[in-house]
Amino acid sequence: MTSRPMTLGVDLGGTGIKLGLVDAQGKLGPTTRFATPKGDPRAVVDLIANHALALIGGKSKRIKAIGIGAAGDIDPEKGIIRISPNLGWRNVPFKTLLTKKLPYPIVLDNDANAAAWGAYVVEAKKKIPNLLCVMLGTGVGGGIIINGRLYKGATGTAGEIGHMTLYPEGIPCACGNQGCLERYIGAKDLAKAVRREIESGQTTLMTEMVHGNLEALTPLIMTQAARKGDALARRLYEEAGERLGIGLASVVNFMNPDWIVLAGGISRAGSLILNPVRRTLLKRSFPTPAKAVKLFISKKDQDLGILGAGLLAHDF
Ligand SMILES: [Zn+2]
Repeated sequence: MTSRPMTLGVDLGGTGIKLGLVDAQGKLGPTTRFATPKGDPRAVVDLIANHALALIGGKSKRIKAIGIGAAGDIDPEKGIIRISPNLGWRNVPFKTLLTKKLPYPIVLDNDANAAAWGAYVVEAKKKIPNLLCVMLGTGVGGGIIINGRLYKGATGTAGEIGHMTLYPEGIPCACGNQGCLERYIGAKDLAKAVRREIESGQTTLMTEMVHGNLEALTPLIMTQAARKGDALARRLYEEAGERLGIGLASVVNFMNPDWIVLAGGISRAGSLILNPVRRTLLKRSFPTPAKAVKLFISKKDQDLGILGAGLLAHDF
């Protein structure tokens, strides 16, 4: 038996929480996942602590630290979740709360920052110096690697591509702005768009697929409908991909990344989303960086957040 050091990676999202043991090379051990309880952060802290202890079990001596990637604007230095629209939290001293429950050093960062570090270590094998990782889930997050280092910016906020303004007079966003990219491609926003179309008389296979319960619409159902040829699902993915492509075209000109890695629930739509993104990128950014950038969907997908959080904790 080896006794190589491990960390516990935690991916804390608006819809679900995932935990897993991670070694220094980014190999994932046992994992567990559960739904995010709504409301009080203390309930979330208790639940994470209980699942963490169960997962660590007899390996407690091998655990070096705990890494948490959380959805929202994070203060990594103080371990505070400053604003998280998807968790509905403001100024939560998450690290302090969790430290009271778990006897390990705790590293807290934004979930997309963690995912970007995961993509850099596991998928790029630390050989691709400049990359952007975009997490397409309940929200839309971004993490930036520049010259092989996670770029956090002045206050740890860097990479919030989901809150880039696409439409100055657009849909209001929980961040306080309006017309943010996330409001047009977030999982719940896509479901809302489907409902709006159905209410205005559009017919779609999706109505039958959720047995008339439109609250049950998910990106997975939309993907299945699109693959069956449903015109509405296909059009909505086309529009969502174009909007993401508009945002990414600006990023390509601005940052000139080697890679753009997409991950998260919406990325599982595969070519339905990738094709319009790629087409829009080529149309709207400078030709040289647009042709140079490798745009693809992460093979680690669901595990990228846990892996990245665990790997950040290895560097603690
Ligand atoms: Zn916003």
